[in-house]
Amino acid sequence: MYDVKSLKAEEFISDEEIKYTLKYAQDNKDNLELIDRIIEKAKLRKGLDHREASVLLACEDKEKIEQIYELAHQIKQDFYGNRIVMFAPLYLSNYCVNGCVYCPYHAKNKHIARKKLTQEQIKAEVIALQDMGHKRLAIEAGEDPVNNPIEYILESIKTIYSINHKNGAIRRVNVNIAATTVENYRKLKEAGIGTYILFQETYCKEAYENLHPTGPKHDYAYHTEAMDRAMEGGIDDVGLGVLFGLEMYKYEFAGLLMHAEHLEAVHGVGPHTISVPRIKRADDIDPDMFDNGIDDEIFAKICALIRVSVPYTGMIISTRESQKVREKVLPLGVSQISGASRTSVGGYAKHEMEEDNSAQFDVSDTRTLDEVVNWLMKLGYIPSFCTACYREGRTGDRFMALCKNMQILNCCHPNALMTLKEYLEDYANEETKKIGLELIDKELEKIPNPKVKQTAYEYIHDIGEGKRDFRF
Ligand code: SAM
Repeated sequence: MYDVKSLKAEEFISDEEIKYTLKYAQDNKDNLELIDRIIEKAKLRKGLDHREASVLLACEDKEKIEQIYELAHQIKQDFYGNRIVMFAPLYLSNYCVNGCVYCPYHAKNKHIARKKLTQEQIKAEVIALQDMGHKRLAIEAGEDPVNNPIEYILESIKTIYSINHKNGAIRRVNVNIAATTVENYRKLKEAGIGTYILFQETYCKEAYENLHPTGPKHDYAYHTEAMDRAMEGGIDDVGLGVLFGLEMYKYEFAGLLMHAEHLEAVHGVGPHTISVPRIKRADDIDPDMFDNGIDDEIFAKICALIRVSVPYTGMIISTRESQKVREKVLPLGVSQISGASRTSVGGYAKHEMEEDNSAQFDVSDTRTLDEVVNWLMKLGYIPSFCTACYREGRTGDRFMALCKNMQILNCCHPNALMTLKEYLEDYANEETKKIGLELIDKELEKIPNPKVKQTAYEYIHDIGEGKRDFRF
């Protein structure tokens, strides 16, 4: 039985409810009157439920899809402005005891190089990332209680936060590690993590069990209920995601929104972010083995519908996607992207030409961070290295309140400009710096509150004089 408030995976992600939703959506895909009503509701910017959003996903009417794209774009502008937050993944270890059939880290893969970074190696990685200009990381690790116990993850987080190379600093560490216990989530919270990210991979239980035939990750309920345990452990920023390509996208989309509705209903705060990874080629993984790949059009439609369905939830696109695809989906609601990512263990500090097959998947966007920053600005976006909310304690519902009260232009906007200025001073090449300084001048004018505007001007000036780390 479907129960949004239940703490049991199979009740808050009810297979029956998803199947009903998909039938309802299919039956109404040409019901333009209903579709118009749903679009009108979405314009109120309070989101859509999984049934409404699924009808829009099923709709194939070109004009309506255009309207949805337009609305997604407007909502992104209203809630997030033209800022795009930058981050990079940091792979700590690819030791893994699971048997995930889409991931080259699966335990049976005997020829992949297994690596686990020492604290010294982590230091070298972090310095390399700081030297590019990164301030925000997402740490990644396989699941292996012997090689990668929680103590190792906690020690690594401590190491990462402790390193200050030149003007560099990692100010926010998000964590993407396997589902764990309330007690471990509490420890992660105490270690000062930002978002806890865990991809569901697929919401379809049967497919989930087949795709995870062995290892602790096989347990669908334990994995699906992880975010409730994380929240019980005090982590109020959690990041959802499915790996598109494994199962039918319409099923996944409904499941994803049901999960978001569940978190909101039980904990009073929805997911902080949603990621939309698509399966990629990797060491012994051929994405064509999976039948449910989605093309770029469907991918864009999913992104736009996530934006209109959960306006307060950030949306993340990684370097799994090419520059072209990223360009297509940025205006549809993406708020965070990674740049210059390496998906191998130790990939940032090692010499470019070194032989290595420890990567988790092939990246499509291989540009440097400076190239990505330059490109974003030319497209009219503000690359942001901001980590202020989390450091000011604006997490969970406090962050949502900022978003809901539309205070972004008085808070996130100046923070983005200040962190961009730091980037330009410390890491950018001449051309990027020139474009950036002009952009900052123009964007400062958009701050509505005169006092905030004046202070932001002063802080930006001070950054030019060598001061760092201002925030609202
Ligand atoms: N081991 C952790 C877990 O089990 O959740 C998380 C870390 S894993 C390094 C991060 C994510 O990469 C996985 O959740 C999965 O969705 C994604 N991934 C795995 N194989 C992939 C592939 N071949 N292409 C794209 N993404 C992949």
